Amino acid sequence: KLSKRLETVVSFIPKGARLADIGSDHAYLPCYAYLHGYIVQAVAGEVADGPFRSAEQQVTKAGLSDVISVRKGDGLAVIEAGEVDCITIAGMGGTLIANILEAGKQKVQTVKRLILQPNVGAHVVRKWLVTNGWELIAERILEEDGQIYEVLVAEKGNPLKPYRYFEVELLVGPFLRTERNDVFVKKWCKEIEHWRRIVAELDEKATTKEGMAKKEALERNIQLIEEVLRDE
Ligand code: SAM
Repeated sequence: KLSKRLETVVSFIPKGARLADIGSDHAYLPCYAYLHGYIVQAVAGEVADGPFRSAEQQVTKAGLSDVISVRKGDGLAVIEAGEVDCITIAGMGGTLIANILEAGKQKVQTVKRLILQPNVGAHVVRKWLVTNGWELIAERILEEDGQIYEVLVAEKGNPLKPYRYFEVELLVGPFLRTERNDVFVKKWCKEIEHWRRIVAELDEKATTKEGMAKKEALERNIQLIEEVLRDE
C-alpha cells in the first residue's frame, strides 16, 4: 500500500505516460504507477547509493525490471531529452526540486507534465514554474501522519500568456487558496504561529540591521497570510 501522499502524486500521471521519478528512493511510486496501469514504462533516478540499491531491489522483487529502469545519477542527468512525458519529484525541499529542474532545463522542455511534491518551500517551486513558462494546472494539500504535504501539477503554458501571480499566491498556491480547505487553514495557522515566535525572539535580541530586515519580512508574510485566512 502506497502512502496517501504518493498516491496523490500518482493520481495526476496521465494514462499511458512514460515516467521519470527523480529521487525515487525505494521506487515505490513507479512500481505502483505501473501496476495500477498509469504508465507504460519508467526511469527511477537516484543520486545516493543506498536508495539506488533499494530501488533496484524493489523493482527486481516486483518483477518489473523490463519496464522500470533504475539509474544512478544527479537529477535529470539520468534521462535523455524526449525519453519521458512526465516527471515526478517528491519528498524533497522546494529549493532542491527547483535546482534539479533548473539544472535539467532543456530536458524539462521535452516533457508534458510535471508533478512535484515539495515537503517545504513550495513557493520556490511555484516561482520556478511561472518564470520558466510552466502553468500550474492543479494543486492538492493533504495531511498524513501529522505532516502536511503539497502537490503541484504543471504543464507547459501558452508562451504568449504570462503566468504571473501575486506574491501571496506564490506563497500559498492559487488553487489551494481558492479551495481553502481545513488542511490549508491548519497549515497556515501553524505557520503564522511559528513566524510570530521568531518575531518575538528577534524582538528580544539586540537588533541588528539583518535581524530587523528578517523581522519585517516575517511581519509582512504574517499580514499577507492573515488576509488570505480572513477572505470570504
Ligand atoms: N521520492 C520518494 C518519496 O517521496 O517517498 C523518496 C523521497 S526521499 C526523502 C528523497 C530522495 O531524493 C533521497 O533518496 C535522495 O537520495 C534523493 N535525491 C536527493 N537529491 C537528488 C538529486 N539531485 N538527484 C536524484 N535524487 C536525489
